[in-house]
Amino acid sequence: MLTAITGINWGDEGKGRMVDLLSSEYDVVVRYQGGNNAGHTVVNEKGKFILNLLPSGILRDDVVNVMGNGMVVDIKHLVEEMGRLNDGGIVITPKNLKISDRAVICMPYNVMQDCLEETRLAGKKFGSTRRGIAPIYGDKYMKKAVRMGELFDMNALKERLADIVEWKNLTIVNVYNGEPVKLDDMMDYLKTYGEKLLPFITDTGLYLNEANKNGKKIMFEAQLGALRDIDFGIYPYTSSSNSIAAYAPIGAGVPNLKLDLSIGITKAYSTCVGEGPFTVEYFGEKAEELRKAGGEYGAATGRPRRVGPFDVVASKYGIRMQGADEIALTKLDVLSYLDEIEVCVGYEKDGVVTEEFPFTQNLESYKPVLIKLPGWKKDISGARKVSDLPKEAIDYIKYIEKAVDAKIKYVSVGAEREAYVIFD
Ligand code: GDP
Ligand code: MG
Repeated sequence: MLTAITGINWGDEGKGRMVDLLSSEYDVVVRYQGGNNAGHTVVNEKGKFILNLLPSGILRDDVVNVMGNGMVVDIKHLVEEMGRLNDGGIVITPKNLKISDRAVICMPYNVMQDCLEETRLAGKKFGSTRRGIAPIYGDKYMKKAVRMGELFDMNALKERLADIVEWKNLTIVNVYNGEPVKLDDMMDYLKTYGEKLLPFITDTGLYLNEANKNGKKIMFEAQLGALRDIDFGIYPYTSSSNSIAAYAPIGAGVPNLKLDLSIGITKAYSTCVGEGPFTVEYFGEKAEELRKAGGEYGAATGRPRRVGPFDVVASKYGIRMQGADEIALTKLDVLSYLDEIEVCVGYEKDGVVTEEFPFTQNLESYKPVLIKLPGWKKDISGARKVSDLPKEAIDYIKYIEKAVDAKIKYVSVGAEREAYVIFD
């Protein structure tokens, strides 16, 4: 059984929380793209954890976690993240964490390059998290990246890295007037953090194929949402990887296997971290209220998230891109303060309304078409079954389900593991 859990929108839909919940039925959880620009917040009986690189299954004792070849790994960040979890009582061993030998290492000079470029861009930023993600994916496709498996042979690695550092310095020094990177410093860095990770590095594709053959249930956990996918998102305001479900088997190392189930996560309203067109954006007091109600500040960066009503146009597109069979609607409890709840049902331009998500560069000229549904004005965070929900809340869920034409199976009403309702 192969299941992908992905974001339908701009990210931060509550994927970590849903993976933590649903992984109870799975044996393996795999991250297949991205790096430590992800921020998944998970709250369970062990405490509150923010995961950037580790798959969210790491918080369950009997789940094996895999960091796939599609990922870019900041090894210092990973060692520190593992340390933080260890301090919180989470035991991490090569038994419950496996890192692909083909995953590439996000180097300190990639982070440096990210910062230099953001400084150059000044006011014209694309919303980089300054963690080196775009530069390292660039390096990967330029075939100038170091992969985790190379850490086993430091001599061969040094030889390759010498050329890479020389090449990188051409840009850092001549383009950005930065300080040149030293090969010895980079080797020290790779030794210091790489050595700690050696026991975890393996051919994860082979491991996953075996696990699948043995009837294990495998879950692929995405970072970000469909609208941040490098190909299908709001390019260039996207991430540098493919966050869609179809990429999961590739980024996990099992391109020979097919997904059985795609579960898409969407919030009961919209949020968007960073730059880019966001048609349904609220401003002023209305925005501040919703942001506060939802605690919408980035887990990885602390940045206030832009907020707006549920967006049927963007969500329908996201559901199509994810091939989502089932939907989990999260944070419904956040809307409990509203008398009336707005939903964006179309995008309008020059009097013409469209329900199809436009090409990124045309997005700015569209205005949202909003309708209003009655609110429920009641705390619903204690709801555990459909009959615990007020009629208005059920109507809201059913309205969205019909509008996006996809089955809403899970509705989450709180950050805690058990705070959800299943719709059969
Ligand atoms: P991810 O990146 O998709 O994993 O999502 P984030 O962790 O960045 O953002 C989701 C935030 O909402 C986290 O702080 C969660 O603890 C919180 N959360 C998730 N589901 C719910 C919910 O149903 N209700 C409330 N109030 N908070 C939730
Ligand atoms: Mg997040």
